[in-house]
Amino acid sequence: MTTPDNSGDVRLSGISKTYDNGFTAVQPLDLTVPQGSFFALLGASGCGKTTTLRMIAGLEEPTTGAVHLGEQEVTHLPPYKRPVNTVFQSYALFPHLDIFENVAFGLRRRGIKSVKKQVEDMLELVQLGEQARKKPHQLSGGQQQRVAVARALINHPKVLLLDEPLGALDLKLRRQMQLELKRIQTEVGITFVHVTHDQEEAMTMADTVAVMNAGRVEQLGSPADLYENPNTTFVANFLGTSNLIEAEVDTENGDDIVLKAGGGKLLLPKARCSAPTKTGGKVLVGIRPEKIALTHADDAGEIPAGRNRLTGKIADASFIGVSTQYVIDSPVCDELAVYVQNVERDGRLVPGADVVLHWSPAHTFGLDATQDID
Ligand code: ATP
Repeated sequence: MTTPDNSGDVRLSGISKTYDNGFTAVQPLDLTVPQGSFFALLGASGCGKTTTLRMIAGLEEPTTGAVHLGEQEVTHLPPYKRPVNTVFQSYALFPHLDIFENVAFGLRRRGIKSVKKQVEDMLELVQLGEQARKKPHQLSGGQQQRVAVARALINHPKVLLLDEPLGALDLKLRRQMQLELKRIQTEVGITFVHVTHDQEEAMTMADTVAVMNAGRVEQLGSPADLYENPNTTFVANFLGTSNLIEAEVDTENGDDIVLKAGGGKLLLPKARCSAPTKTGGKVLVGIRPEKIALTHADDAGEIPAGRNRLTGKIADASFIGVSTQYVIDSPVCDELAVYVQNVERDGRLVPGADVVLHWSPAHTFGLDATQDID
């Protein structure tokens, strides 16, 4: 039996960072990134994601805790002795060297003479085979970023760390490079740890996302899981529009909690509620805008039984091509967002129309109402 290769696992045990000025940027943190995964640290500016990455790289000494890469403890090893490489936002290519020599640099520094095949393979991997003899200034931003990735990967790190590597690119190029980086990661199969403040970027690329807030990981999971089942209002709102409605716990019905909101009842699966649910207690009910259907009030009788429903009035409607984004005033919440695909659009759904919002209880999530709503 072969032992599974775990040399690219990243394990953080109780690591924290308090800077010399007394500011704690990262609270004690436990985190395991499995070998071969694409992992994103996601959070707003200043939440501690770069500090966390720098502790993995060895560019920052943790105040407490340990860093393991595979079985090896590297907490006190300098960066160059760790099997990691980092790609930064400013790719810092050598301007006087051509692309081939930029990529070859790490190999030549280690005294490796025959670099041609390795560099060519690496340039193929990042689809820059044709550009080998150009200088960095002759490439686009996205191409330069790919050179930076090739330059880091040629050293065969076990883990590639990426600190907002796409931050300097315009939106279109950024979207292309997200797919490109994902393809490269799948091809080389090594662990990628990617820092970003862009939720769409993290969700597009990563298998697992850690959402950070104020030096802590608020929640860890697959993009779909975080989006569908957020545990906190911070995560719910950071990953999209969440339509939070305050409701009161009434009773239980099988696998569901029955809630009172705006004179009606809403069902919430127990498995999707991260709040305590005592009768009379408050819960924040969340529902994503694209999960809600809109029916004109005149047709309310046609809504199938068993769906959660709320009444409201259309305050605003924005046509955005594939969908229309509605803002609905409802007795339970001032501004509920509802996104309806235009194939299903009903011409009567215009500002001022009375409507019923309805959705499957299975798409409803419940949060602790005592949290601050971010
Ligand atoms: P950004 O996306 O803006 O880089 P971040 O989430 O990566 O944000 P960090 O760079 O890890 O955040 O910084 C976390 C906090 O630590 C910030 O409030 C920052 O001002 C502070 N910080 C970072 N480096 C130092 C330092 N050397 N000394 C003191 N405080 C620091």
